[in-house]
Amino acid sequence: SILSSGLVYYLLSTKQHTPEEEPAYVHRGQLIVEGVDGLIGNTPLMKIRSLSEATGCTILGKAEFLNPGGSAKDRVALNMIRSAEAKGILQPHMGSTIFEGTVGSTGISIATIARARGYEAWIVMPDDQAKEKYQLLEKLGAHVEKVRPVSIIDKNQFVNLANRRAHEFNTGDKVGYFADQFENEANFEAHYTTTGPEIYQQTQGHIDALVLGAGTGGTLSGLTRYLKPRIAQLKIFLADPLGSGLYNKVKYNTMYSPTEKEGTRKRHQVDTVVEGIGINRLTRNFDFGRDLVDDAYRVTDDEAVRMSRFLVREDGLFLGSSSAVNCVAAVRVARQLGPGHVIVTLLNDSGQRHLTKFWSDDYLETHGIRHDLGPEESLNDIV
Ligand code: PMP
Repeated sequence: SILSSGLVYYLLSTKQHTPEEEPAYVHRGQLIVEGVDGLIGNTPLMKIRSLSEATGCTILGKAEFLNPGGSAKDRVALNMIRSAEAKGILQPHMGSTIFEGTVGSTGISIATIARARGYEAWIVMPDDQAKEKYQLLEKLGAHVEKVRPVSIIDKNQFVNLANRRAHEFNTGDKVGYFADQFENEANFEAHYTTTGPEIYQQTQGHIDALVLGAGTGGTLSGLTRYLKPRIAQLKIFLADPLGSGLYNKVKYNTMYSPTEKEGTRKRHQVDTVVEGIGINRLTRNFDFGRDLVDDAYRVTDDEAVRMSRFLVREDGLFLGSSSAVNCVAAVRVARQLGPGHVIVTLLNDSGQRHLTKFWSDDYLETHGIRHDLGPEESLNDIV
């Protein structure tokens, strides 16, 4: 089985939280929350009007950009830190340092929660991400180390380097903890115990399809493992940007299809303006849910960018790149299933974190990516 015995035990033993046991961070909806943790989770599920009207389906987006650190990664960072505290690896207010390799969102979430709990954050990132993510990390007091984007087999790849930095730091009386979002099952668990139950309650289980991209795969696996056993008709669809190997993995059980050019172009890098989803290796967190994914859709940069412009024009919804990819794939799924179905996707972060890349017309023009959207153009012109 792909599941570790610890995880199987966890899944079998997990029951719904009663109000008394409810984690302290499930508090939105009450008048007062305690600290920044209290702002995490319980995000609304928003009906996206333009996409729903155009397809005849109900397309719902989970508004994860409303988390205090600006993305769903707040849930993951909090659970990884709590899990390390429960194991005695981290002790609040002992000045330990949390190390992480990230394209940004997880780093920002770790830095936010670390500050609130008395830890330091050391964030290793590839140097080709939108500038505002590094700036925000620095303002949050994190130590930021930028590296060239290279293959995972390179010892200086951002995840490998974060791991090594934690080990180097972890000498004498200093504690360095490598959070390891790609392999750490606390990532998957965060969505299994919070995002999944929230979506179930918000829809009363009336969902036909769940559509989302994967970076670590924690969101996809956590939601899939929670929702699929509870909703008989539910189908799971992966949304994958160009250059990512996950589409091939789902469709053909191989990362690199010999017949598909874009999947092989850069074997270790995902060649897209989209940040946060798409990857060319099989992570433990993706593996947890992979066998339950029904199908996959490819989304091009042109489609994602023009979708983001469409959602501002029609709905006043200003989203980041991975959310736009999810919305393109959600429309494809709506067309495949036909009118009357309920489709849930994730709105991972806001466009504010992408102003200098995905939302920069200059950047897109330099890279040959379409961003124009005529006033008369409809959804059919985009997807
Ligand atoms: N969207 C954004 C903006 C992200 O940063 C990430 C995580 N890298 C994802 C989506 C994908 O989430 P996951 O890691 O759970 O697959």
